[in-house]
Amino acid sequence: MSQTIVQKFGGTSVGDTTKIKNVANRIKTYHDDGKNVAVVVSAMGKTTDELVDLADQITQNPPKREMDMLLSTGEQVSISLLAMALNEVGVPAISFTGFQIKVKTDGNHSNAKIESIERRRIDEAFAEGKVVIIAGFQGIDTNENITTLGRGGSDTTAVAVAAALGADECEIYTDVNGVYTTDPRKVPEAKMHKQITYEEMLELASLGAGVLHSRSVEMAMNFGVTIHVRSSFHSEPGTLVVSEEKIMENMRVSGVTVKSDQARVTIPDVKDQPGIAAELFHALSEKDIIVDVIVQSSPHDGVNTISFTIAKKDVNSAKPILESIKDKLSGRDIEIDEDIAILSAVGVGMKSHVGVASQMFQALAKVGINILMISTSEIKISCVIPQTRANEGLKAVHDIFELEKVGS
Ligand code: ASP
Ligand code: MG
Repeated sequence: MSQTIVQKFGGTSVGDTTKIKNVANRIKTYHDDGKNVAVVVSAMGKTTDELVDLADQITQNPPKREMDMLLSTGEQVSISLLAMALNEVGVPAISFTGFQIKVKTDGNHSNAKIESIERRRIDEAFAEGKVVIIAGFQGIDTNENITTLGRGGSDTTAVAVAAALGADECEIYTDVNGVYTTDPRKVPEAKMHKQITYEEMLELASLGAGVLHSRSVEMAMNFGVTIHVRSSFHSEPGTLVVSEEKIMENMRVSGVTVKSDQARVTIPDVKDQPGIAAELFHALSEKDIIVDVIVQSSPHDGVNTISFTIAKKDVNSAKPILESIKDKLSGRDIEIDEDIAILSAVGVGMKSHVGVASQMFQALAKVGINILMISTSEIKISCVIPQTRANEGLKAVHDIFELEKVGS
């Protein structure tokens, strides 16, 4: 039986017709090798943003079902053009929408979760020697309404296809070379990893490292699919995302990120009694406001201070909620600081090494950066710092863990 490979090309890789032809030529080499190739593609370039913009010109409140109907069209354009480009270079190819291969999802429009994929038509096409091109980012719910998986969701489609076809590896072709120790535009010493664990990648993805859709990493971890993040512009290997057991030595810190889209809310003199935090965070979650770092001081004189961070975009919807429960909490004025950044260090080796947090704090102390809040998890340490010092902090932390030596 021929080997099956799954490849995903993102929006920039299929940004115009020349790029689509290049992608077709790359796929051809795998097909010529006798492999079964399934390709998942995103919409061309900024198409999805343009579609969002069109809806925006009509309404601020589009029905979610219709929004998904609209957004899913972008991928239908790119899959058909890529199939044409392949046929043009002598490679038989067939494109499928999510509907046609029954990418079944829950009914959560704009953030749907894949439940299953039917492989019958894919297998039939392989049997006929065809390359299969699949629309990323879309599926159908139990009533056959079109759903989408959340922005960047084509990665998740690709991993789900790899899992459904029993492929060992899913190649994600993108406009960067692989996964870096930090953003190379901010820290030129940043290095690319040859390998990184699913766990680290999940943390990095949720910290806005932006290379992969978080859910694709979760799914790869659950189904044991190796993800290979690599460049669509050359053929050098990129970064493999694998399970912890496959990595010889786990790094104490493998990535450092900075997130500047958060604001810090501080509520002084909160009454020290049961149920207060529950009430506050329940009110915020009711409005779908995601809270990240939370810090509560120890009580003194029957009160304490609660600080937490939320996305800047949620500040306006949080304000009225906070105002409405202010009297119950403390009665004091609530402060909101938008000039903050969350600097995080991630590494699975933290589980077994001591002193990682103190080293990070020392790095910041050395350059005189004041830490406003701290939070830690098993494989992550985050510090809230002033936004003006964000890039400097990033570099200092990258330096102290000697990440410039990765891969050498
Ligand atoms: N086209 C969708 C987006 O722009 C899905 C993707 O690119 O993965 O979010
Ligand atoms: Mg993407």
